[in-house]
Amino acid sequence: MPGFHVPLEIANEIILHILDAPPTLREGTAENPKPDWKLIEAFTLTCWGYRLRALELWFRSLYLQSADDLHAIPNIFPTLKGSWTRHLHCVQYNVGKAADLIWDLAGFSSLTSIRIDWLHENTPEEKLSKIYPHEGAPCFINVQSPIKELDIRGLRYPTPMAIQSLTTSFRHIATLKIESLRSWCGLCNTCALIRFPGSTPKDQLYEGGLGLSIHYARILFSFQHLEEVIITLPDLGSGLPSPGFPIDSGDNLWTGECDRCMDQVYHVAGFKQQWMSRKRGIGTENDKYKRSVYTRPPSLKRVLWKFWLYEHKPGYTPRTYTQDEITFDDAWIGEHEDSDSFDSDTQN
Ligand SMILES: [Zn+2]
Repeated sequence: MPGFHVPLEIANEIILHILDAPPTLREGTAENPKPDWKLIEAFTLTCWGYRLRALELWFRSLYLQSADDLHAIPNIFPTLKGSWTRHLHCVQYNVGKAADLIWDLAGFSSLTSIRIDWLHENTPEEKLSKIYPHEGAPCFINVQSPIKELDIRGLRYPTPMAIQSLTTSFRHIATLKIESLRSWCGLCNTCALIRFPGSTPKDQLYEGGLGLSIHYARILFSFQHLEEVIITLPDLGSGLPSPGFPIDSGDNLWTGECDRCMDQVYHVAGFKQQWMSRKRGIGTENDKYKRSVYTRPPSLKRVLWKFWLYEHKPGYTPRTYTQDEITFDDAWIGEHEDSDSFDSDTQN
């Protein structure tokens, strides 16, 4: 019917229905979960009004694979940063220059959530230390929106400094999600692969502001609005037994410790009890580590640890993690165990 147009309001609903459909299987790290552009392309070719509305809805979620792309946006879509985009999905691949790791969010005034897929082989602070004189320097600058949710994925070495670099610019977050390959162990101060003896545990929920490693809590202590932290880790299985396992029995308050540490020190008389007290924010009279007890972020209500089983199969490369990286993890620890001086007073 020549000249016939669906009212803009109806077109709006149709486009929203298409764009809000649940993502398909493209939920892996670095992949763009948005639906295919072709699904709404026809609308954009119909008339100026449809095109504008379709673009506006399409760019509610913006997916970028390079910080450099941020600079070109105003010339192409002048209103995108100011009013269109609510969710930003940044993928950080390996780049040579540290300056290429700086994401300048100036102009984004309507963002409510951000996802960072950190696929660089280095942690942020390792690269940024070349251009910033202090540790924990931010990767994201000029943040103008009170972003409520931060979702970090793909991080291989989630050191407290790496977490600080990726979170420090987002002072209004209520929810922080971290999906990483390794866990930060507060006993050996390294990022370790998690190996549970026996079956993979169910999700662990801690309430009342507990449940982070002491170092993470210290990094996140100044986040006044932070209510929830969700940490997702792979379980590689075949861990060493210790009085700390299974993590969901008794009073273990497991917050990322590696099986090697637990196997070595949890058998030492009195150690486990003292360590649990520190993780509850209690320093005892005779505790020489009294000054480094847990500090609850003021609004933190729940910490959820989630696990998925890594399958030892040839060619199995889940998400972005390579078989070699897991196989040679011991070598990495040997190279780096003396280099992290974040809090040497927890060494035992
Ligand atoms: Zn450890």
